[in-house]
Order: sequence, then C-alpha cells, then structure tokens
Amino acid sequence: MFNKRVKIKELLATEPTGQEVTVMGWVRTFRNNQFIALNDGSTNNNLQIVVELGMLDEATLKRITTSASLKVTGECIPSLGKGQKMEIKAKSIEILGDSDPEQYPIQPKKHSLEFLREKAHLRFRTNTFAAVFRIRHTLAFAIHKFFHEKGFVYMHTPVITASDAEGAGEMFRVTTLPMDNPPRNEDGTIDFKEDFFGRSTNLTVSGQLEGELAATAFSEIYTFGPTFRAENSNTARHLAEFWMIEPEMAFCDIEDNMNLAEEFIRYVIKYALEHNREDIEFLAQRLAEEEKSLPQDKRSELGLLEKLDFVVNNNFERITYTEAIDILLQSPAYKKKKFQYEVKWGIDMQSEHERYLVEKHFKKPVIVTNYPKDIKSFYMRLNEDGKTVAAMDILAPGIGEIVGGSQREERYDVLVEKMNAMGIPTEELWWYLDTRRFGTVPHAGFGLGFERLVLFVTGMTNIRDVIAFPRTPKSAEF
Ligand code: ATP
Ligand code: MN
Repeated sequence: MFNKRVKIKELLATEPTGQEVTVMGWVRTFRNNQFIALNDGSTNNNLQIVVELGMLDEATLKRITTSASLKVTGECIPSLGKGQKMEIKAKSIEILGDSDPEQYPIQPKKHSLEFLREKAHLRFRTNTFAAVFRIRHTLAFAIHKFFHEKGFVYMHTPVITASDAEGAGEMFRVTTLPMDNPPRNEDGTIDFKEDFFGRSTNLTVSGQLEGELAATAFSEIYTFGPTFRAENSNTARHLAEFWMIEPEMAFCDIEDNMNLAEEFIRYVIKYALEHNREDIEFLAQRLAEEEKSLPQDKRSELGLLEKLDFVVNNNFERITYTEAIDILLQSPAYKKKKFQYEVKWGIDMQSEHERYLVEKHFKKPVIVTNYPKDIKSFYMRLNEDGKTVAAMDILAPGIGEIVGGSQREERYDVLVEKMNAMGIPTEELWWYLDTRRFGTVPHAGFGLGFERLVLFVTGMTNIRDVIAFPRTPKSAEF
C-alpha cells in the first residue's frame, strides 16, 4: 500500500500532466472546506489538494484538521494558485490518523522557539525545524562523504571509557552500583571493584585518545559520535550531550591540520548550499525577519546566504595567540574598558574576546595558534619556545569556538614529562603512551562540535534548536 506513495518534493519537481498519484502526509491547513495544504517532511513546500464540493461528507470534512494524517489519491493538474505550479485534484481521501484541534498544541501560526522547545516531540512539523533538521542531515552526510573521498577510515570509539584523564570533573559516571548503599572500602570510599566493569567508568568527553591509536595504524581516521560533558555551562552554545567529529592524521603537522580543517568546513557548507538551498533560503528569510526587531548595531552585517558564500569563497584569517592578545590590547574596546574579563598574555580567552576578534576585527573566521601551554591539554605538542603548544582553535562569527585541535606531542620523553607536571596518571594511559614507544610519528587532529556547525549553517542562535532532543543542565525531557 505504502510503496506507491510519491514524495511531495519529488512530485513538485515534475510537470502536471493529469497523471494519477498517491501522496501521504500531514495537514498543515484546510481552507474553505476545499484546499488542503499537505506536507510530508520532504520539503517545506506544501502540496495543495483540491477537494471537490460534495466529495466528502460533513463528518469527514471535520476530521481534516491541522496535523491529521492523510492518504490522498488524485490527478496532478496545473495550479492557478500563486507560487505553485501543480495541485492534486483529489479522487479519494483517506484519513490515516485524526488530530484533535482542541488538543494539538502547534497551531498554524508563528510560535516562539522557546515554546516549541517544550514541544520538541512535535516541532519537526514546523517549517523552521523541518529546515534545520534536513540541513543537519545533509551536513552529516557531507562529513562522511568528505572523509570517505579522502580515504579516511571511520572509527567508532567507545562511549563508555575508563580513562578520566581528560575531562576531570566534567564527566558523567556510568555505574550499576546501588546509589543508596554502594559497597565501600575500609576507608569509606566507594569500592568500584564491585561495579559492572570492576572499575570506575564514565561517558566519553572525546574520542581523540583512541582516535590516535587508530591513526597510528591507518594514517588517517575520523570519528563522528556522541560525546558528553557534565559542565554546568547553561549557555546557548553548550550541550551536555553533543556530537563531535574528530579527524586524526599521522604524518601531519599543525599547518596540514589547519589546511584540512579549513577545506573540510568549506566543503560541507558548500555541499549544504548546493543540496539544501531552499531550506537555507527559508532560514535566511526567517533570520532577516527576526533581526528587524533588533537595534541596528545588533543585526548581522551579512545575511545568512551572503555569510555562507563568504566563508566558502575566502580564506580564514590565521594568527598566533600572542598576536591575538596584542590585537585585543590595542583595541578600542579594551581602551574603553568594554571587556568584562582581564586581557593579558596567558589568559584563556573569554567568549567576549573571541567574538571581538572574529566579529569586529577580522569579520571572518579566524584560526588562532600557539596557545600558552598551561591553558591547554597535556597531549599538545610543545613548541621550541618552551612556553606555547601547537594548538589551533577556529573561531566563527556568531558562534565563537567551533573547532579545537592541535599537533600531538609525539616525543615520548617530552610527553611523559608534561603528564607528570600536569598530574596526568601515566600508568592509567599506558596504552596511549605505547603509540609513542612503537613507531611514533608526527600527527595532528581536531574536534569539531557538530551542533556548532549546524548553528553556523542554519543561522539559528540557540544550540537547543539544532539537536532533536537537547540535554542541558536540569533538562532531559523526551
Ligand atoms: P568551549 O570553550 O566552547 O567550552 P572547549 O574548549 O571545551 O569549548 P573542546 O574540548 O576543544 O572544546 O572540544 C572541541 C569542540 O567541541 C569545540 O570546539 C566545540 O565545537 C565543541 N564543544 C565543546 N564543548 C561543547 C558542548 N558542551 N556543547 C556543544 N559543543 C561543544
Ligand atoms: Mn568547554
């Protein structure tokens, strides 16, 4: 029964020649007991179904309400309506599922994004979210395509990890021990030997360390999976559960790493522009409307499409951390004491600093390299100066940090010394250190937060609106 169905997107791309088709979808609106706007999620363009007078009885007509699901068979004819070249003259209409208009929470009118977040189970049925999630899909596909074409191997790194070397304090514990009465050691601490894995385990914060093991065998790998951070940052850019893409390349230095990251970002944006043009145009329009209510200085200088075209066609700016600090110290914003946080060499730049560099100073994505070693992770390669590491962050307008990466410390002795200095337990990471003992090579990689990329491409402003069911502090509905 269902395989004869035509998708509305496909149908709208053909010519109406009186052919008979069957379509299925959800009612968006029903006007004058005559015109049904039907949507099946393949496009935001609804298909108009024309119901002839007298074709359906009164009771059935009443059941054609917003979000009721229908099966419609009819004839494709040219439409006289504005903005559509085709409509369906219905021959039969079957109601697959009713939708009580008294109870259905989403009306065919503009709702706030906050309201729709509470109705996340139904928000895919709105044009905004339908567009966002089709673009999200396309970006995910483009990511695999990009790496596959370059011969990278897709690795699935573990979701449950025993190492807590990286995200100390930011990890979600995984346990089957009873919460009310866990087994205890003599000194009163919890006895994790009794736990499921015989040790304490957590949800992963990054697949990088395991990714490095694979990269030092396959040369080039990437991961694309969920990561978890119990960081209590209730911002529009942080989730407790988010998806990360982490390529890792052997025989690769920081320069190669930057080149790859830039090529990668351009590629996937271009792919989305080519394959989701309509949806991006829809969101561009939406954003422009939204920004009309903002004061002039809060509006984006470029529209969404212009911004994306600009990124595809222009190189990212590349500066060192030291240069970035100098720019900030010289800036009018600093001189007028506009920054809330301190600026001096050695700080971990705050979002206000990153945004100044990207949005005010360069007005384009910026790659910042060679950060002070004390504010970066233990595995980043120490530079000649002994003070900085070969790290790179990519900062994007409106988002801030979108990529964090580095060349890895491949020298065994330097790495061990650094781990000791930073209090990272070498015995726990024996397997990681083995890559430096057996055929170590210069290698590098980065992590890109998928939702931050989706934010950038869709022009949405809150990360909760680009993942289907966001997990954030005090919120795990659905
Ligand atoms: P931030 O400073 O924004 O918290 P980070 O320095 O903690 O980021 P990394 O540990 O380098 O980030 O992680 C790599 C990438 O993962 C980041 O560049 C970002 O795109 C993304 N990311 C990090 N934390 C989150 C989060 N809580 N929610 C969504 N994406 C995140
Ligand atoms: Mn963070």
